Amino acid sequence: MPTETQLAEYMAEIREQVCSRCIERPPGAPPCAPHGKRCGIELHLADVVDVAHRVRSGAMDPYIERFHSDVCSHCANKTTNQCPCPLDYLLLLAIQAIDAVDERRAQRGEPAIPVS
Ligand code: SF4
Repeated sequence: MPTETQLAEYMAEIREQVCSRCIERPPGAPPCAPHGKRCGIELHLADVVDVAHRVRSGAMDPYIERFHSDVCSHCANKTTNQCPCPLDYLLLLAIQAIDAVDERRAQRGEPAIPVS
């Protein structure tokens, strides 16, 4: 599992690459939760990072399957009218953002983050 500092770097990249393109983003967001918009990016960031690290595929389907099995399966939002959340269709961008952070970490000589 990433540390809080590592998670902050992933979140900053996701804010830039993903949240900036989200059409559901409330005015004044992100963060979205204070505006009543519950999104998997804010609810489950560590788990989403874990999905990216567990799959490591050139195809998108394995990420989607793992996202649904490892994240959505225990999401409190699942039975509400806020599901599916933006992460459901922005997952590819989120994975790319996580990959970008991992590449930066590798360039800095930092070790890979172990999967949970
Ligand atoms: S798609 Fe639904 S179940 Fe999955 S993270 Fe988003 S709100 Fe939760």
